Amino acid sequence: MSFIDLDLDPRLLTALEKAGYSKPTTIQNAVLEAALEQRDILASAPTGTGKTAAFLLPAIQHLLDFPRRGPGHARVLILTPTRELAEQVRQYGEKLVRGTDLTIGAIVGGRDYQLDADLLTANLDILVATPGRLEYYLQSERFDPRQVELLIIDEADRMLDMGFMPVVEQIANETRWRKQTMLFSATLEGAGIDQFVDRILQEPVRCDAKPPRSERKKINQSYYRADDLAHKDKLLMRILNDPSCERSIIFVRTKDRAVVLNGKLFARKVRIAVLQGNMAQGQRDRAIELFKEGKVKHLVATDVAARGLDIPEVTHVINYDLPRKGDTYLHRIGRTARAGAKGSAVSIVEAHDHPSLEKIQRYVGEPIRYRVMEGLKPLSRVPKFTKPKKSKLKKAAAKKRK
Ligand code: AMP
Repeated sequence: MSFIDLDLDPRLLTALEKAGYSKPTTIQNAVLEAALEQRDILASAPTGTGKTAAFLLPAIQHLLDFPRRGPGHARVLILTPTRELAEQVRQYGEKLVRGTDLTIGAIVGGRDYQLDADLLTANLDILVATPGRLEYYLQSERFDPRQVELLIIDEADRMLDMGFMPVVEQIANETRWRKQTMLFSATLEGAGIDQFVDRILQEPVRCDAKPPRSERKKINQSYYRADDLAHKDKLLMRILNDPSCERSIIFVRTKDRAVVLNGKLFARKVRIAVLQGNMAQGQRDRAIELFKEGKVKHLVATDVAARGLDIPEVTHVINYDLPRKGDTYLHRIGRTARAGAKGSAVSIVEAHDHPSLEKIQRYVGEPIRYRVMEGLKPLSRVPKFTKPKKSKLKKAAAKKRK
């Protein structure tokens, strides 16, 4: 299907053309038709699949189809878990509404309240918000929830992880006059979203955007084995020094490890930006800007801090610390090979990571090739983690009961 087949407003078609989107992505194909018919949507779509346009396009089309009679508060409300994601969705929305009279704004935590005050008194069509700050304005009756016709919840699994779901439900309850709700989540299975779905959505159309293998194949996945931390650092330096590694995101497990790695790379004269949860908003924005503008080639990030960011043209995703779960791995590697470009996902695996590596391999269902770096061959053997036999487990349990 093409965008033209979907009967989108010509102004939207022009905006899409300017953005260089010739045809809908898998998730857009799955969502757009049902969403344009004002059905509720329950979509499983990780970042990088084109999910933002999948909800922005039908939202904007609705606003164009039914122009508002007088000025007022937002008719489309988009909730996102993080400030960066909110800002990104707002910027994306700005691009799409450029040829129209529609307005879009963002209300996020950690920002001057005066900026919000200006937004809340102006006429606004689309509001992107983080739940906490918006709830504050709902409680103080400075935002009118009765004007919301369309509610979109982005990265619901992340909202759940961050403990925002009760507030999201509260907001869903207060905007109960709405006509349509769309919920997007990187994964739906096992994410604990189910319990909210019945309360928030009405007979939703389920849309799955698991990218087809052909799309995922553009990511060249491999791993190196490291004997210890010093070996790991050497491998990392080699990967970073490879000319093909033009722009990378280096994932670490914790905030502290991000700080330590930053110090190590600084000492080796590799200029990087860091993104971790403990940073003030201004620092985070600066880090993203440095990386986006290409002033630094590499970004060290934790999963929490990097979630949802749209950073184009990353040639390498480097798992300095291997994640424990397959979905986190998929999330991370989805940052490379965007929009048809080729990308590499390189993991550095220590002995204790092997059970996770096996789990990830099963989850991804694709080969992650083992590679050896010349002169940095591991000396240790691949550890064998055998599961204890059932009889042994039974004996241990019996012993415990005694
Ligand atoms: P998202 O999953 O919304 O973060 O989008 C991932 C990337 O895909 C963004 O850089 C978008 O600009 C891009 N994108 C979205 N829709 C399309 C499309 N139909 N064709 C090509 N690229 C797209």
